[in-house]
Amino acid sequence: MIIKRIIETSLIDWEGKVVSTLYVSSCNFRCPFCYNYDLVLNPDNFPNISSKEINNFLLERKDFIDGICMSGGEPTLYPDLPAYFKGIKEKGFLIKLDTNGTNPESLEELLNGGIIDYIAMDIKSSLNFNDYARAAGIKDKILLERVKDSIKLIMNSQIEYEFRTTVVPLLHTEETIIEIAKYISGAKKYVLQNFIPSENTLESSFQKIKPYSSEKLAELSEKAKKYVANCYYR
Ligand code: SF4
Repeated sequence: MIIKRIIETSLIDWEGKVVSTLYVSSCNFRCPFCYNYDLVLNPDNFPNISSKEINNFLLERKDFIDGICMSGGEPTLYPDLPAYFKGIKEKGFLIKLDTNGTNPESLEELLNGGIIDYIAMDIKSSLNFNDYARAAGIKDKILLERVKDSIKLIMNSQIEYEFRTTVVPLLHTEETIIEIAKYISGAKKYVLQNFIPSENTLESSFQKIKPYSSEKLAELSEKAKKYVANCYYR
């Protein structure tokens, strides 16, 4: 694992839990609205944080945090992710994984091994290639098929999970959100996250996009509830 960044204490990365959030470098997507583009495009600009350092860091906080959130970048690009998580779990920490869903084999190993406690999987757009290619910055159709495999895998598992979409006006209309909700009909949870414009988006043209209003997000989540009862926005 190549960990580049740690947020010591986060109350927002896993609802109801206090976690430390670890960020890996590199990603196989190029979402134009990505806030962590520096970790995706220029990972060598950041020093690696050693396993020893992370272990010491976590053990020092054992009484204050429930677990970790592994984010990035895309954690499932690392073949040693299951072994890494096992080491953390053995120390008594809960584990949440943030993923773009492009590695169903890794997810299956994690699910079968009971290694993780929660998955938050991004669904970048409606599940047709043109829309997904635009929202995730991809050219390879296989990646979308792998995302679909991961959705199926997670929905057929017993794990607690959420699917989530960062809603960006240039990429998502009401129709897009309804199409996604239909695709994951019956899922345990679907969260709409409002896009926050910042200087740190991967594509500079996204820095000034005006996000949807809270009212619009509320309206979209109400409509999506027809397919996923536990749908809300944040
Ligand atoms: S937002 Fe997209 S490009 Fe950025 S880390 Fe997540 S999946 Fe990768």
